[in-house]
Amino acid sequence: MRILLTGGAGYIGSHTLVELLANKYKVCVVDNLSNSNIEFISRVQNITKKEFKFNLVDICDHNALSKVFESFRPEIVIHFAGSKSVKESFDNPLKYYKNNVFGSINLLNVMDKYSCSKIIFSSSATVYGNPEYLPIDENHKVSPSNPYGHSKLMVEKIIKDWSTTYNNKSCILRYFNPIGAHESGLIGEHSHDHPNNLLPIIENVFIGKENNLKIYGNNYKTPDGSGIRDYIHVVDLAKSHVAGIKFFDGTKSSDVFNIGTGKGNSVFEIVSIYEKVAKKNIPYVVEGRRKGDISESVADPSKARTKLSWKAELTIEDAIKHSVNWKLKNPNGYNN
Ligand code: NAD
Ligand code: UDP
Repeated sequence: MRILLTGGAGYIGSHTLVELLANKYKVCVVDNLSNSNIEFISRVQNITKKEFKFNLVDICDHNALSKVFESFRPEIVIHFAGSKSVKESFDNPLKYYKNNVFGSINLLNVMDKYSCSKIIFSSSATVYGNPEYLPIDENHKVSPSNPYGHSKLMVEKIIKDWSTTYNNKSCILRYFNPIGAHESGLIGEHSHDHPNNLLPIIENVFIGKENNLKIYGNNYKTPDGSGIRDYIHVVDLAKSHVAGIKFFDGTKSSDVFNIGTGKGNSVFEIVSIYEKVAKKNIPYVVEGRRKGDISESVADPSKARTKLSWKAELTIEDAIKHSVNWKLKNPNGYNN
């Protein structure tokens, strides 16, 4: 089976690549390296001892993408490529609509041209917005509260229409909060910009790049007042894509799945686990709430368990242990 990964050099893409190679799939990565580094190739080869193809291509470039399809002829596309910062999407929404929405339309057009009819798409729990009930199942209403979330929901809808109209197959995965790294410490979360997510910021405080963590709000209606999220180990998340490929063997053509653990942790709990695992104090200051933040987000992952035969296996302690290991070995990401 030939599988094309858009954005396969990124954080989730590179961990998925490792799982796909371990499962003997033939893989081709397309990435413009706008938020990643070519170093990932030798690192993934080092982990897997397997070869794969890489093309420095932007998914918005129809001709360049067509050439990749012409030579590789993928049967399935796993579509990670996109921009992912909620904060940046408020500052520069058009970048998000171009890269995420236009980029995806361009990809689907090229897939049509080469009769590639199956796609797994990286969506996000952010499409649910502020939850009306917890845990959040896939029937929960969607109501994103930021341009990034709007762009993800638009792509979900486009993919659903594309699958229905042309009788194609799609598997939409709504990730909750991926954290952690490969246990080897060779691949992990790398960002060209200043990070906005909790774990990469704690990591920077841990290695002394930042003085303290700013905790955005201690007056939410949660037991300790800080925000609660469903943090999932990136390796468990990566494995959900292998389950997604197997889903295409079934009769259902198109579906959407929450990919989370079903358990929530508050910011204070994460800091405390990090301190215990890293054996180091993480200084913090409590600040006001961050724009667009919600109080609590926890997945009901039972649909993925029943229909994809997938569930998260690793613990929050595993994820934080691997995050500490990655940061100690790669204090500047791949730019060491
Ligand atoms: P990432 O930035 O590490 O990876 C994205 C990759 O796509 C990068 O390697 C980047 O260089 C590439 N890319 C971006 N625009 C491109 C383009 N136009 N053409 C080709 N390549 C391009 O991000 P990630 O954390 O691995 O996220 C992967 C996907 O999962 C994204 O679509 C993101 O929206 C989604 N997602 C991420 C999270 C998260 O917290 N990390 C949560 C939910 C959903
Ligand atoms: N958070 C925080 N300080 C930071 C970054 C995040 O207190 O510097 C909190 C944030 O308010 C939320 C949780 O950590 O409650 C997870 O935030 P992240 O940005 O990682 O994920 P998202 O909010 O997009 O789910």
